[in-house]
Amino acid sequence: MSGAMLKLDNITKTYRTGNGEVHAIDGVSLDVAAGEFLAVCGPSGCGKTTLLLAGGALLAPDGGRVEIDGCDPYAMSPNDRATLRAGAVGFIFQQFHLVPYLNVLDNVLAASLAAPGGDARPRAEQLIERFGMADRARHVPAELSTGERQRTALARALLNEPKLLLADEPTGNLDEQNAEVVLAALGEFAESGGAVLLVTHSPQAADHAQRTVYLASGRVREERSGAG
Ligand code: ADP
Ligand code: MG
Repeated sequence: MSGAMLKLDNITKTYRTGNGEVHAIDGVSLDVAAGEFLAVCGPSGCGKTTLLLAGGALLAPDGGRVEIDGCDPYAMSPNDRATLRAGAVGFIFQQFHLVPYLNVLDNVLAASLAAPGGDARPRAEQLIERFGMADRARHVPAELSTGERQRTALARALLNEPKLLLADEPTGNLDEQNAEVVLAALGEFAESGGAVLLVTHSPQAADHAQRTVYLASGRVREERSGAG
C-alpha cells in the first residue's frame, strides 16, 4: 500500500466561544504523499492553522478522520500520540517557539528528549552546520536574528528525521533570503522522501510547493499543480 503520509478525511472543527460558534474547518479532505510538498494557501482566518494542528496530532477535529502514516493519532492514548508526534512529525511555526534560555545547540537537541534513541548530538551539530549556524551554536535566541532563529527551528524540526514536516507561515517574519533558505529546505526534505505541508497566506511561498490547495472559510476552494 502506498498510502498518504498525512491523510485528512472530511475533517471539521468548530470553536465554541462566549460569542457563539466559529466553523474554522468545514469538511476538508486532503492527502500528502511521501515525497510530496503540498501548500495550503488562503487569507488570514480561513482555517490554515487549525488544519495544521489537526493534521499534526495537536488538536482533535470534531468530525472526520486524520491519519499520520496510516495511524489515527486521536484514537490513541495521549502518550502514544505524543510518541507518534515526536518521532514522525516536525513542526515549524512563524513565531519559532524556541526555548529562550537554551542556546541553539540545546534548542535543537530538545527535540531528542521527546524521541530518545541514538546519539542526537552529532546530528544536531550537522544540522546546525548545514543551516549556517555553527558559529552561533552557543548563543541564545535573543542574540540571534529572526532568520537565525527560524534556521534553528528548522534544525530542531529535522533532528528526529520525521516523515512529515508541518510548517505554519514559516516565512512570515523573514527577509527574502532567509525565506528562500527555509522554503528550499522544505523542498529538499520532500525530494529526500519526506512529506511537507506548508500553510501560508503567501502565494509566493506556496509557489515553492508541487501542489497548492486554496482554502476559504474553512473549505477547499480550488486545487492547482505548481511548477514545484
Ligand atoms: P488562519 O491560520 O488561516 O489564520 P485559524 O485556523 O487560526 O486561521 O482560524 C480559523 C478561524 O477560527 C478564525 O475565524 C479564528 O478566529 C478562529 N479561531 C482560531 N482559534 C480559535 C480559538 N481557540 N477559539 C475561537 N476561535 C478560534
Ligand atoms: Mg494561522
